[in-house]
Amino acid sequence: MSTMPQPTQNKILPVNSSGNLAAIINPTQIRELSQKNDKVMQIATLLHTSLSIEEIIAQFSEEIRGVIHHENLSYVNEKLDINVVIGESARHSCVYELSINDQHLGLLSLTRNKKFSDADIEQLERLICALHYPLRNAVLYTVALNSAHKDPLTGIGNRAAMNTALHREIELASRHNRSLGIILFDVDHFKSINDTYGHAAGDYCLQSLVKCAEKSVRISDLLFRYGGEEFMIVLPETDEDGVLRLAKRIRRRVERLETTYQNQLIRMTISLGITTLCENDDEKMLFNRSDEALYKAKQDGRNCIRIATVTG
Ligand code: GH3
Ligand code: MG
Ligand code: MG
Repeated sequence: MSTMPQPTQNKILPVNSSGNLAAIINPTQIRELSQKNDKVMQIATLLHTSLSIEEIIAQFSEEIRGVIHHENLSYVNEKLDINVVIGESARHSCVYELSINDQHLGLLSLTRNKKFSDADIEQLERLICALHYPLRNAVLYTVALNSAHKDPLTGIGNRAAMNTALHREIELASRHNRSLGIILFDVDHFKSINDTYGHAAGDYCLQSLVKCAEKSVRISDLLFRYGGEEFMIVLPETDEDGVLRLAKRIRRRVERLETTYQNQLIRMTISLGITTLCENDDEKMLFNRSDEALYKAKQDGRNCIRIATVTG
């Protein structure tokens, strides 16, 4: 019976934990080591030129390759949902939990077919010092960027995120000649929900509505809150039939949704306007067309779907 080779594992622990590797990520020592070691200093300076986590990791792998040979280098930051993988995974691995003081920066691992010697590991740990501060800056920047695009109440993308995604998806769909669907929806008589049950209940209803919509869409569909009780779904590679099918499903599910807030059962309905990308459409035209369809749905009695008419 053959046994699987056990990977060698090393871990840099947080500063205040015990263990001799802990000192490596002490901020003062990172600085001192960087200053004493030309290669570390040189890599750190280079990595400081970027705020993109992906770029920093790729550049770090490239820079250390001549000193520490590795088949693969990967970086995972679960909180930010970032997973960078460079090269094919190999037999022996070194894994490092990167952090500065109490701030977790993610997990870095290197793998290769040849075993890592003690000297390799020592060298690698010295080089990793160059990664800490540039990576910390990139992590902070990414956190700030994410929160600037996130709606704090529901956790989905806000108007700024919607504009960015719309621009990108229109470009992609046009370039590859693919269809692109849009659904706008707005809660019916939401003001009266606030008036009847209170603003906090209204907030809770919006969260419940978003969970319901998220469960109804595909993983590739993008949901945004672009106004108070106004939402957009961007559906890549979806034609009008597909958009209509999803719109019907969401309308029905919201109508059946039972939201209980402080023992009170609250029901909602939504009106929906849908459209698909036409030639020469920009973000504004696509949005305005679906908004007109949504307006029509409101005029026609609410809790219904209207498809935008394309002129010209
Ligand atoms: P219609 O069917 O025409 O859409 O009627 P409506 O009452 O939903 O529309 P209207 O635009 O008159 O009112 C929207 C309401 O949504 C008013 C506003 O106070 C409420 N609203 C907007 N944002 C929030 C929010 O974040 N939380 C809560 N609770 N209410 C909000
Ligand atoms: Mg409304
Ligand atoms: Mg509205």
